[in-house]
Amino acid sequence: MLPEILLAGLKVINTIAALKALLSPIKLAQQKIALVPTMGALHKGHVSLIEIAKHHAEVIICSIFVNPTQFTDPKDLEKYPRPLEHDIEMLRAAGCDFVFMPSVKEMYPLPEEWHIDLGPAEFLLEGEFRKGHYQGVTQIVKKFFDAIQPDAAMFGQKDFQQVLMIRNMVVQFNLDIELISCPIIREEDGLAMSSRNIHLSEADRAHSLVLSKALNFVKENFNSFPIDELLDKAQAIIKEMEGVELDYFTIAHQDTLLPAVDKNEGNLVALVAAKVGQTRLIDNVLLF
Ligand code: AMP
Repeated sequence: MLPEILLAGLKVINTIAALKALLSPIKLAQQKIALVPTMGALHKGHVSLIEIAKHHAEVIICSIFVNPTQFTDPKDLEKYPRPLEHDIEMLRAAGCDFVFMPSVKEMYPLPEEWHIDLGPAEFLLEGEFRKGHYQGVTQIVKKFFDAIQPDAAMFGQKDFQQVLMIRNMVVQFNLDIELISCPIIREEDGLAMSSRNIHLSEADRAHSLVLSKALNFVKENFNSFPIDELLDKAQAIIKEMEGVELDYFTIAHQDTLLPAVDKNEGNLVALVAAKVGQTRLIDNVLLF
Protein backbone atom coordinates (compact mmCIF):
# COMPACT_ATOMS: atom_id res chain seq x y z
CA MET A 1 0.00 0.00 0.00
CA LEU A 2 1.30 3.43 -0.90
CA PRO A 3 1.14 6.12 1.78
CA GLU A 4 -2.09 8.13 1.56
CA ILE A 5 -0.22 11.17 0.37
CA LEU A 6 0.41 9.48 -2.98
CA LEU A 7 -3.11 8.39 -3.67
CA ALA A 8 -4.09 11.89 -4.81
CA GLY A 9 -1.84 11.81 -7.93
CA LEU A 10 0.96 14.12 -9.04
CA LYS A 11 2.10 16.66 -6.44
CA VAL A 12 3.98 19.78 -7.43
CA ILE A 13 6.63 20.92 -4.93
CA ASN A 14 8.81 24.01 -5.03
CA THR A 15 10.89 23.94 -1.86
CA ILE A 16 13.35 21.52 -0.30
CA ALA A 17 11.59 21.87 3.06
CA ALA A 18 8.21 20.84 1.58
CA LEU A 19 9.86 18.00 -0.29
CA LYS A 20 11.53 16.67 2.85
CA ALA A 21 8.26 16.89 4.80
CA LEU A 22 6.43 14.92 2.10
CA LEU A 23 9.17 12.32 1.78
CA SER A 24 9.56 11.70 5.49
CA PRO A 25 6.51 9.38 5.92
CA ILE A 26 7.44 7.59 2.69
CA LYS A 27 10.90 6.86 4.03
CA LEU A 28 9.44 5.78 7.37
CA ALA A 29 7.20 3.36 5.48
CA GLN A 30 10.41 2.09 3.82
CA GLN A 31 9.10 2.78 0.34
CA LYS A 32 11.83 3.03 -2.29
CA ILE A 33 12.25 6.41 -3.98
CA ALA A 34 13.58 6.98 -7.50
CA LEU A 35 14.66 10.36 -8.83
CA VAL A 36 14.49 11.39 -12.49
CA PRO A 37 16.35 14.70 -12.87
CA THR A 38 15.41 16.77 -15.94
CA MET A 39 15.49 20.31 -17.25
CA GLY A 40 11.91 20.05 -18.50
CA ALA A 41 10.54 20.40 -22.04
CA LEU A 42 9.70 16.77 -21.58
CA HIS A 43 9.44 14.21 -24.37
CA LYS A 44 9.13 10.44 -24.68
CA GLY A 45 12.78 10.01 -23.72
CA HIS A 46 12.06 11.50 -20.30
CA VAL A 47 8.89 9.44 -19.97
CA SER A 48 10.91 6.27 -20.65
CA LEU A 49 13.08 7.13 -17.64
CA ILE A 50 9.94 7.36 -15.49
CA GLU A 51 8.74 4.00 -16.81
CA ILE A 52 12.08 2.40 -15.96
CA ALA A 53 12.07 4.11 -12.55
CA LYS A 54 8.83 2.32 -11.71
CA HIS A 55 10.72 -0.99 -11.87
CA HIS A 56 13.17 0.27 -9.26
CA ALA A 57 11.03 2.13 -6.75
CA GLU A 58 7.50 2.65 -5.45
CA VAL A 59 7.71 6.44 -5.43
CA ILE A 60 8.89 8.47 -8.43
CA ILE A 61 10.11 12.06 -8.18
CA CYS A 62 10.90 14.01 -11.34
CA SER A 63 12.80 17.27 -10.95
CA ILE A 64 12.45 20.07 -13.47
CA PHE A 65 15.18 22.65 -13.07
CA VAL A 66 17.08 24.52 -15.76
CA ASN A 67 20.36 24.62 -13.89
CA PRO A 68 22.26 27.85 -14.63
CA THR A 69 25.64 26.57 -13.42
CA GLN A 70 25.90 23.95 -16.17
CA PHE A 71 25.38 26.38 -19.06
CA THR A 72 28.49 27.77 -20.66
CA ASP A 73 26.56 29.99 -23.07
CA PRO A 74 24.11 32.45 -21.44
CA LYS A 75 22.08 32.59 -24.70
CA ASP A 76 21.59 28.82 -24.54
CA LEU A 77 20.28 29.18 -20.97
CA GLU A 78 17.96 32.02 -21.96
CA LYS A 79 16.42 30.20 -24.91
CA TYR A 80 16.04 26.85 -23.14
CA PRO A 81 12.36 25.84 -23.62
CA ARG A 82 10.17 25.94 -20.49
CA PRO A 83 6.68 24.59 -21.34
CA LEU A 84 5.70 23.95 -17.71
CA GLU A 85 2.01 23.14 -18.11
CA HIS A 86 2.73 20.66 -20.87
CA ASP A 87 5.43 19.07 -18.67
CA ILE A 88 3.11 18.68 -15.70
CA GLU A 89 0.48 17.03 -17.87
CA MET A 90 3.08 14.64 -19.27
CA LEU A 91 4.25 13.71 -15.79
CA ARG A 92 0.67 13.19 -14.61
CA ALA A 93 -0.02 10.93 -17.60
CA ALA A 94 3.22 9.04 -16.98
CA GLY A 95 2.16 8.25 -13.41
CA CYS A 96 4.90 10.28 -11.73
CA ASP A 97 4.20 10.94 -8.02
CA PHE A 98 6.07 14.20 -7.33
CA VAL A 99 7.47 16.93 -9.50
CA PHE A 100 10.10 19.08 -7.82
CA MET A 101 10.39 22.50 -9.49
CA PRO A 102 12.53 24.75 -7.29
CA SER A 103 13.57 28.32 -8.06
CA VAL A 104 17.22 29.18 -8.70
CA LYS A 105 17.26 30.93 -5.29
CA GLU A 106 16.00 27.76 -3.62
CA MET A 107 18.86 25.69 -5.03
CA TYR A 108 21.51 28.40 -4.80
CA PRO A 109 20.60 30.58 -1.78
CA LEU A 110 24.18 31.86 -1.43
CA PRO A 111 27.09 32.33 -3.80
CA GLU A 112 28.78 28.98 -3.96
CA GLU A 113 32.14 27.62 -5.00
CA TRP A 114 31.90 24.03 -6.17
CA HIS A 115 34.64 21.79 -7.36
CA ILE A 116 34.94 18.03 -7.46
CA ASP A 117 37.62 15.93 -9.11
CA LEU A 118 35.73 13.96 -11.75
CA GLY A 119 38.83 12.43 -13.30
CA PRO A 120 40.46 13.17 -16.66
CA ALA A 121 37.32 12.29 -18.68
CA GLU A 122 35.75 15.55 -17.45
CA PHE A 123 37.91 17.49 -19.89
CA LEU A 124 37.34 15.33 -22.97
CA LEU A 125 34.60 15.59 -25.63
CA GLU A 126 31.72 17.64 -24.15
CA GLY A 127 34.09 18.84 -21.44
CA GLU A 128 36.34 20.34 -24.08
CA PHE A 129 33.50 22.13 -25.86
CA ARG A 130 31.56 23.11 -22.72
CA LYS A 131 34.15 24.08 -20.13
CA GLY A 132 32.95 23.55 -16.56
CA HIS A 133 29.73 21.88 -17.72
CA TYR A 134 30.16 18.74 -15.61
CA GLN A 135 31.06 20.75 -12.52
CA GLY A 136 27.64 22.43 -12.86
CA VAL A 137 25.89 19.13 -13.58
CA THR A 138 27.39 17.34 -10.58
CA GLN A 139 26.80 20.40 -8.37
CA ILE A 140 23.04 20.35 -8.97
CA VAL A 141 22.68 16.57 -8.98
CA LYS A 142 24.49 16.41 -5.62
CA LYS A 143 22.05 18.99 -4.24
CA PHE A 144 19.11 16.90 -5.44
CA PHE A 145 20.67 13.74 -4.02
CA ASP A 146 21.20 15.48 -0.65
CA ALA A 147 17.66 16.87 -0.51
CA ILE A 148 15.91 13.68 -1.64
CA GLN A 149 18.30 10.85 -0.74
CA PRO A 150 16.75 8.59 -3.36
CA ASP A 151 17.40 4.87 -3.53
CA ALA A 152 17.87 5.07 -7.30
CA ALA A 153 18.35 7.77 -9.94
CA MET A 154 17.66 7.45 -13.67
CA PHE A 155 19.84 9.05 -16.33
CA GLY A 156 19.71 8.71 -20.11
CA GLN A 157 22.48 7.07 -22.08
CA LYS A 158 21.75 9.90 -24.53
CA ASP A 159 24.07 12.00 -22.31
CA PHE A 160 26.69 9.27 -22.09
CA GLN A 161 29.45 11.38 -20.59
CA GLN A 162 27.04 12.83 -18.02
CA VAL A 163 26.23 9.33 -16.70
CA LEU A 164 29.96 8.64 -16.38
CA MET A 165 30.59 11.92 -14.53
CA ILE A 166 27.70 11.32 -12.12
CA ARG A 167 28.94 7.78 -11.54
CA ASN A 168 32.36 9.22 -10.67
CA MET A 169 30.72 11.70 -8.28
CA VAL A 170 28.75 8.92 -6.58
CA VAL A 171 32.01 7.01 -6.10
CA GLN A 172 33.86 10.12 -4.83
CA PHE A 173 31.20 10.83 -2.18
CA ASN A 174 30.53 7.16 -1.52
CA LEU A 175 26.79 7.71 -2.03
CA ASP A 176 24.41 4.83 -1.56
CA ILE A 177 22.35 5.52 -4.70
CA GLU A 178 21.82 3.11 -7.56
CA LEU A 179 22.43 4.83 -10.90
CA ILE A 180 20.49 3.46 -13.84
CA SER A 181 21.56 4.30 -17.39
CA CYS A 182 18.48 4.14 -19.65
CA PRO A 183 18.44 3.49 -23.43
CA ILE A 184 18.18 6.33 -25.96
CA ILE A 185 14.66 6.94 -27.26
CA ARG A 186 14.61 8.02 -30.91
CA GLU A 187 12.16 9.47 -33.38
CA GLU A 188 11.03 6.94 -36.00
CA ASP A 189 13.62 8.19 -38.46
CA GLY A 190 16.49 7.78 -35.97
CA LEU A 191 16.98 11.27 -34.50
CA ALA A 192 17.61 10.99 -30.76
CA MET A 193 14.85 12.82 -28.90
CA SER A 194 16.03 16.00 -27.21
CA SER A 195 14.42 19.11 -25.76
CA ARG A 196 16.69 21.06 -28.10
CA ASN A 197 15.18 19.50 -31.25
CA ILE A 198 12.42 22.09 -31.01
CA HIS A 199 14.95 24.68 -32.23
CA LEU A 200 15.63 22.78 -35.48
CA SER A 201 14.20 24.35 -38.62
CA GLU A 202 12.63 22.02 -41.18
CA ALA A 203 15.90 21.92 -43.11
CA ASP A 204 17.96 21.37 -39.92
CA ARG A 205 15.61 18.56 -38.92
CA ALA A 206 16.34 16.78 -42.22
CA HIS A 207 20.09 17.43 -41.94
CA SER A 208 20.20 16.22 -38.32
CA LEU A 209 19.55 12.63 -39.43
CA VAL A 210 23.16 12.41 -40.54
CA LEU A 211 24.25 11.94 -36.91
CA SER A 212 22.30 8.74 -36.26
CA LYS A 213 23.13 7.63 -39.80
CA ALA A 214 26.89 7.90 -39.12
CA LEU A 215 26.52 6.13 -35.75
CA ASN A 216 24.51 3.34 -37.37
CA PHE A 217 27.13 3.01 -40.06
CA VAL A 218 29.77 2.38 -37.40
CA LYS A 219 27.58 -0.06 -35.49
CA GLU A 220 26.66 -2.04 -38.59
CA ASN A 221 30.16 -2.08 -40.07
CA PHE A 222 32.07 -2.53 -36.83
CA ASN A 223 33.44 -5.90 -37.88
CA SER A 224 34.24 -4.86 -41.43
CA PHE A 225 36.81 -2.06 -41.02
CA PRO A 226 39.59 -1.07 -38.61
CA ILE A 227 38.83 1.79 -36.20
CA ASP A 228 40.59 4.52 -38.18
CA GLU A 229 38.67 3.63 -41.35
CA LEU A 230 35.37 3.51 -39.49
CA LEU A 231 36.11 6.98 -38.14
CA ASP A 232 37.13 8.38 -41.53
CA LYS A 233 33.97 7.07 -43.17
CA ALA A 234 31.63 8.20 -40.37
CA GLN A 235 33.21 11.67 -40.26
CA ALA A 236 32.94 11.92 -44.05
CA ILE A 237 29.20 11.09 -43.90
CA ILE A 238 28.69 14.02 -41.53
CA LYS A 239 31.03 16.48 -43.22
CA GLU A 240 29.30 15.97 -46.57
CA MET A 241 25.98 17.15 -45.13
CA GLU A 242 25.29 20.85 -45.63
CA GLY A 243 24.37 22.89 -42.56
CA VAL A 244 26.10 20.48 -40.16
CA GLU A 245 29.32 21.48 -38.37
CA LEU A 246 31.03 18.51 -36.74
CA ASP A 247 32.57 19.04 -33.27
CA TYR A 248 33.72 15.47 -32.83
CA PHE A 249 33.03 11.91 -33.86
CA THR A 250 34.99 9.41 -31.82
CA ILE A 251 35.12 5.77 -30.88
CA ALA A 252 36.16 5.65 -27.25
CA HIS A 253 36.35 3.48 -24.18
CA GLN A 254 33.14 3.57 -22.18
CA ASP A 255 34.94 4.05 -18.83
CA THR A 256 37.60 6.60 -19.75
CA LEU A 257 36.38 8.16 -23.02
CA LEU A 258 39.93 7.78 -24.31
CA PRO A 259 40.04 7.02 -28.03
CA ALA A 260 40.04 3.34 -28.93
CA VAL A 261 42.95 2.04 -30.94
CA ASP A 262 41.86 -1.53 -31.51
CA LYS A 263 38.35 -2.96 -31.76
CA ASN A 264 39.25 -5.89 -29.58
CA GLU A 265 39.75 -3.58 -26.60
CA GLY A 266 36.01 -4.08 -25.92
CA ASN A 267 33.40 -1.88 -24.13
CA LEU A 268 33.55 0.88 -26.70
CA VAL A 269 31.13 3.66 -27.57
CA ALA A 270 30.84 5.88 -30.64
CA LEU A 271 30.03 9.47 -29.69
CA VAL A 272 29.16 12.42 -31.87
CA ALA A 273 28.48 16.13 -31.37
CA ALA A 274 27.64 18.59 -34.11
CA LYS A 275 25.99 21.92 -34.67
CA VAL A 276 22.99 21.56 -36.93
CA GLY A 277 22.05 25.06 -37.99
CA GLN A 278 22.18 26.95 -34.69
CA THR A 279 21.46 23.90 -32.52
CA ARG A 280 24.13 21.70 -30.99
CA LEU A 281 23.17 18.01 -30.88
CA ILE A 282 24.86 14.98 -29.30
CA ASP A 283 24.25 11.28 -29.82
CA ASN A 284 26.02 7.96 -29.28
CA VAL A 285 25.81 4.23 -29.76
CA LEU A 286 27.31 1.45 -27.64
CA LEU A 287 29.73 -0.91 -29.40
CA PHE A 288 30.49 -4.14 -27.62
P1 AMP B 1 17.52 16.84 -19.89
O1 AMP B 1 16.15 17.34 -19.56
O2 AMP B 1 17.93 17.05 -21.30
O3 AMP B 1 18.54 17.29 -18.89
O4 AMP B 1 17.43 15.27 -19.74
C1 AMP B 1 16.99 14.68 -18.54
C2 AMP B 1 17.33 13.22 -18.57
O5 AMP B 1 16.66 12.62 -19.68
C3 AMP B 1 18.83 12.97 -18.76
O6 AMP B 1 19.24 11.90 -17.96
C4 AMP B 1 18.91 12.65 -20.24
O7 AMP B 1 20.01 11.84 -20.56
C5 AMP B 1 17.60 11.91 -20.46
N1 AMP B 1 17.24 11.93 -21.87
C6 AMP B 1 17.23 13.01 -22.70
N2 AMP B 1 16.90 12.64 -23.95
C7 AMP B 1 16.69 11.30 -23.91
C8 AMP B 1 16.34 10.32 -24.90
N3 AMP B 1 16.15 10.66 -26.17
N4 AMP B 1 16.22 9.04 -24.50
C9 AMP B 1 16.43 8.69 -23.22
N5 AMP B 1 16.77 9.56 -22.23
C10 AMP B 1 16.91 10.85 -22.58
